[in-house]
Amino acid sequence: MPNELRYGYVTQLYYEILGIETPRQLDLLDEWFSDLLIKEEESDGNTKIPPFFSEQDSRIHAVRYHGRLYSGADEIIAQLTGRLIGTAKGNREKQRRNAVVMCKHITRVLCENWSRFEAFLNHTGEMILRMDEDQLNEFLNKLLDFVKEIALARNEMSESERDGEPFPMDDEIFDAAVYNAAYQLNLCTVDGLVQGYAWLLLGSLLRNECGRITRRFDSSFNEVNRMPSEEPDLISKLDCLFFPEDYEYTYDGDDFESKYPDIHWQCDQCGTSLNSQEGFTDRYGKWQCRLCGYVNDIDEEHIFENNEDAENRRNHMDAQKIREAIERRKTQLSE
Ligand SMILES: [Zn+2]
Repeated sequence: MPNELRYGYVTQLYYEILGIETPRQLDLLDEWFSDLLIKEEESDGNTKIPPFFSEQDSRIHAVRYHGRLYSGADEIIAQLTGRLIGTAKGNREKQRRNAVVMCKHITRVLCENWSRFEAFLNHTGEMILRMDEDQLNEFLNKLLDFVKEIALARNEMSESERDGEPFPMDDEIFDAAVYNAAYQLNLCTVDGLVQGYAWLLLGSLLRNECGRITRRFDSSFNEVNRMPSEEPDLISKLDCLFFPEDYEYTYDGDDFESKYPDIHWQCDQCGTSLNSQEGFTDRYGKWQCRLCGYVNDIDEEHIFENNEDAENRRNHMDAQKIREAIERRKTQLSE
C-alpha cells in the first residue's frame, strides 16, 4: 500500500484488521461520513436509480439497491468518488471542483455544529469498537506505522511533487493533521486511537479543507487559540514525541533559588497562576492555592510543555534532566 494520506488507504487499514472486504465507492464514503456526503433517497430497495451530485446541498444523492448504495455506471459520480477516495487511477483532475465543494460543505457543517462533530467522533468510536482487544492493538500499531511512513514519504517529496499531487494539501495542514493523529495514537488509549483515526479520516478526505479544523482544534478536538508549534518540521516533532528520552533540557536563566526555575505553575483546580501568589515557593512539593484552596502538587511529575500534555498526563519532565540543565547553567556562568 502506498504511503499516502488518502481516504482509500486510511479506511483499507481498518477493513484489513477486521478481515472484511472494503466497501465500494459510495458505501465506503457513506460508512464513515454518512449523510454529510451522501443523501440517501427514498426507494423500494429494488430499483436502480442513478446517483447524482446536487449543487443545492453539495452532496451525492443515491438510493439503496439490494442493501448497497447504487452507483451505476455514471462517469461523473465515479470520478467524483474516485477523487474523494483518492486512490483511483486516471482522470483524476476531473470533477475536482465538485469534490472540493463537497469537502467544504462537510467542513462547514462540522465546524459550525459541534453536535454533528461529536456525532462523527462517536460514530468513528463505534466503528472501531467492533474490534476485539487484539485487533485494537494491531490496528493501533498499524496506524502508528502508517503515520510515520506517510510523514517520511512526504518529507522526501520535492516541492513541485507536492504541489503537483492530485488534490494537493498544504504542508502546514498535512503536518498538523498527521501530528494530531500521531499525538493521539501515541497515547495508546482507546480514546486516543479513536481520535487519532478521526484525524486520519478527516485529513485524507478533506485534504486542504481540513485546515479549518486543524486551526480550530487541538488533537483532542478541544477548541484552541494557539499558534502553530515552534518546531520546524513534522519529522523532528514526531521524533520528539516518540523519543522524548533523546532530548536534553536547557536552562539559560540565573535563578538558582527556585527548585524549578522558569516553570509557570497553574492551579489544577481553578487555573490561576500560583507563582504570583504571595509567599509562593516551589520547594515544599505542595502549594495550597490562595484563591480556591486546592492543594497542588509541585513536582516534576506535574510539569508539562503545554496544556494538552498536562491534560493527558503525557511527557512530564524528568527530574534528573532538570537538575542537569541547572548544573550545566551554573558551570557555564562560573566559567
Ligand atoms: Zn486554585
